[in-house]
Amino acid sequence: MRVLVGAATDVGRVRERNEDGFLSREPLFAVADGMGGHRGGSVASKLALEVLSQMGGDSMSGDGAAKDLAEMVVQANEAVLERASEQPRLTGMGTTLTAIVVQPGRLHLAHVGDSRAYMLRDGTLSQLTEDHSLVQRMVKEGKLTPEEAEVHPHRSVLTRALGVEPELEVDKETIEVRPGDRVLLCSDGLTTMVSEDEIQEVLAEQQDPQAAAEALVEAANEAGGADNVTAVVIDVLVDAAAAEVGGEAAAATQTAEPTDTGADEEGAVRRPFSEPATATTGRPAQAPTPGRRRRPLRTLIWLVAVAAILGAALMGARAYVYSQWFVGVEGERVALFRGMPVEVLGYELHEVVEVTPLSADEAMQLRPWRQLADGITADSEEEARSILATIELDLAAAQRPRPGAGSG
Ligand code: MG
Repeated sequence: MRVLVGAATDVGRVRERNEDGFLSREPLFAVADGMGGHRGGSVASKLALEVLSQMGGDSMSGDGAAKDLAEMVVQANEAVLERASEQPRLTGMGTTLTAIVVQPGRLHLAHVGDSRAYMLRDGTLSQLTEDHSLVQRMVKEGKLTPEEAEVHPHRSVLTRALGVEPELEVDKETIEVRPGDRVLLCSDGLTTMVSEDEIQEVLAEQQDPQAAAEALVEAANEAGGADNVTAVVIDVLVDAAAAEVGGEAAAATQTAEPTDTGADEEGAVRRPFSEPATATTGRPAQAPTPGRRRRPLRTLIWLVAVAAILGAALMGARAYVYSQWFVGVEGERVALFRGMPVEVLGYELHEVVEVTPLSADEAMQLRPWRQLADGITADSEEEARSILATIELDLAAAQRPRPGAGSG
């Protein structure tokens, strides 16, 4: 099976470092989107890709590839958990992982998290993966429409990822491929910034896979670049005879970079020399534009995992705890908190910073804010305040009489 590959990754326009990574080692390709405090995110994504890259050539050519690929993802999960347990500063780190092995006439897919795989065939884009996110679950349960999910404050909270639990369920699939098919692997930094229509357009327009990958990254940055963004584009060229596969696996790496994880070197003590952490401007809180620019809030799941470990290392983790923010309920009012929306060993890991006059009950009657009582997490005070501002706007909109309603 011949393929041509292009890949690009970028820190985006908001984040300080790139925690995404990719692997391009024909016939194995993957994208990982790391998360976690300190350097955890980039360590997790890089480590997962390193483990995956150890998948043997023999595993990749045979019928067992699907099973072996999923097994490598399970091993990557174990490696991330083990590293986090060895290095307390990395506690709570995790990563998504979406990987494929291309074989003659088919590809095997293994997937955990909210990075995605797409197929462009005859000009039409279709998603091969399902996001393991809270909003996706709510869409499936009919609690949210896909449109509501796109702007939901919980939309980056994952229900499954590497680095959370020893038991990991991996989505596995085998998909038929034909010459002319184009496969895209990407992180959510692309799909939260660029519509699927636009992705389809770019993939259909840009002939060269490298140009396509770069154009997608550029499109995400032009839309605001709120997150790290990664795109790997794989073009299926010829449906070669199965006999070719063993040799091809090792040989045809011309356009594919070696294990380039796109993430920072692990252990390097580099600090951004500009922008200290406190360099936020003093401007008043603004409601974010729906679907754009708001930084992903995928912390809740991590926080729960972190909290479990915190029982043992409570004091050491306090700095991390109190660098977090969330919007929740205090008494009957919507309130701003510093810390985590959890309790460990009877010890509440948060403090109230501000209680607003907004009614928590009324807010929770609005669909996007039903989980308010559980706490809606944010990565910064500014982000938490923008969530407050959005709730206020939503409440005001809900109280406005609807045109035509009630008057017959
Ligand atoms: Mg991301």
